[in-house]
Amino acid sequence: DNKERLQKVMASCGVASRRKCEEIITEGRVKVNGVKVTELGTKVGKKDIIEVDGKILFKQEHVYYVLNKPTGYLTTVSDSLGRRTVMDLLDPETKKTRVFPIGRLDYDTSGVLLLTNDGDLSYRLTKSQKEVEKEYQVRVSGIIDQPAVTKLIKGVMIDGVMTKRAKVQILELNKKNDSSLLTITITEGRNRQVRKMCETVGFEVKKLKRVSFGGVTLDGLGVGEYRPLKPHEIKKLY
Ligand code: URA
Repeated sequence: DNKERLQKVMASCGVASRRKCEEIITEGRVKVNGVKVTELGTKVGKKDIIEVDGKILFKQEHVYYVLNKPTGYLTTVSDSLGRRTVMDLLDPETKKTRVFPIGRLDYDTSGVLLLTNDGDLSYRLTKSQKEVEKEYQVRVSGIIDQPAVTKLIKGVMIDGVMTKRAKVQILELNKKNDSSLLTITITEGRNRQVRKMCETVGFEVKKLKRVSFGGVTLDGLGVGEYRPLKPHEIKKLY
């Protein structure tokens, strides 16, 4: 019948990301039909009873949101130092569904942040080879030139690895305050990627906002507000 890998089922029930679920399994915290399982290849079907830390897992209904992340918030589910996180922006009812952010935005970055309890989708959008376009509006200091733009498009070396091809559009060259406004679209999600790409070609990022993730945009959301995704938006992500 329709058996699936244990970590995948756990992730889809909202336990954690698939990667994290693998850890939970190898730590010996999971039982299937009352028997402890530490083997990552284990397959389970609909009738199997899965326990994590002694609690039986139920299929959880999946929810999907887009949040307009303000600057000054960490993208994480909990912070050991007690700093503000994006979870602080959610209603208690939303938190009960055990959502977590898909990918990450820097503390100083604002804009589109997807949240879900669908660990499987999260995995596919952030860890698999699937190319998802992430579009950023970027304010850099200085007047950007064509050679720099060409380099950004073709790829630059950051942390010893070339970035993949990007799309770049110049929206504004502001001689008065010596800055430029660009749109940069990338399909990867490396650590501080857009900031590092711009730095590499000699331009410092002053302001960074994600305006689209896989075609999902803010659609009028105020800063700090969130909304459920529409069915057609979820379909686009899958
Ligand atoms: N690139 C960055 O540099 N920062 C982000 O938050 C997202 C993309």
